[in-house]
Amino acid sequence: MGFLSGKRILITGIANKQSIAWGIAQAMHKQKAILGFTYENNRLRIRVEECAKIVGSEIILPCDVSNDTSIKDFFCKLSEFWNKFDGFVHSIAFAPSDQFVGDYVNNVTREGFKIAQEISSYSFVAMARESRSMINKGGSLLTLSYLGSERAVPFYNVMGPAKASLEANVRYMAHALGPDGIRVNAISAGPIRTLAASAIKNFRKMLAEYTPRTALHRNVSIEDIGNTAAFLVSELALGITGEVIHVDGGFNIAF
Ligand code: NAP
Repeated sequence: MGFLSGKRILITGIANKQSIAWGIAQAMHKQKAILGFTYENNRLRIRVEECAKIVGSEIILPCDVSNDTSIKDFFCKLSEFWNKFDGFVHSIAFAPSDQFVGDYVNNVTREGFKIAQEISSYSFVAMARESRSMINKGGSLLTLSYLGSERAVPFYNVMGPAKASLEANVRYMAHALGPDGIRVNAISAGPIRTLAASAIKNFRKMLAEYTPRTALHRNVSIEDIGNTAAFLVSELALGITGEVIHVDGGFNIAF
């Protein structure tokens, strides 16, 4: 028995085995959750299939969250496998690479700002709206944020406002979905070397400087994020909603 026994959870955002979403999937699998997976496009399909096989999942469906029809079609297809399920993990963010260079004020563009907001924040509530009627009472939605929402982190640029919007989204969604018995939370993860992180200039340097400044004197891993995610979607966390929980080794509380 695991504390997610019998729970059906959908995982988005696996690009490879370094992805935070993969750490989450593994932790939830350990706790006996039944998992389903999305992939953005055919380029990633094989990688996601490999991961799904490891955790015994047969649900691997396309969903590009930048497109409303793709989100609608995805949940329609999902309903052929699961007419009801217990929540999803939104582990998705994107902004064009030219938005992560140089001075924020000089380099941010209307298009870059819009794309970052749409894919990294709006898509969370868009997915919730399409799946609301399929989610069981007691269900849980989870997304991934970063400290750049609260502080100006060099080169994080347009993704900072996108994560601030995502965290506000968490609170408004939690308030709206609370009466349905659905909880909504975010994990604000410390920096981890992934494909998305490689878009940020000086990420390696930032990671090296980060370690000694954390309270725990270590960086976090996708396993650390996965374990907290498993707890948050479980019945052990039934009283928690609308929260942004830092899993960053205590970086945000240190001076
Ligand atoms: P990752 O492995 O690159 O995962 C990002 C995922 O988002 C990829 O699977 C990517 O697919 C997907 N995605 C982008 N646009 C999409 C779209 N239109 N539709 C569907 N999927 C789309 O990187 P990660 O670091 O694990 O990122 C996961 C989440 O954690 C993100 O929200 C990120 O901001 C957050 N986070 C990361 C860190 C860190 O240091 N790594 C810290 C805090 C928070 P493609 O590869 O096909 O684009």
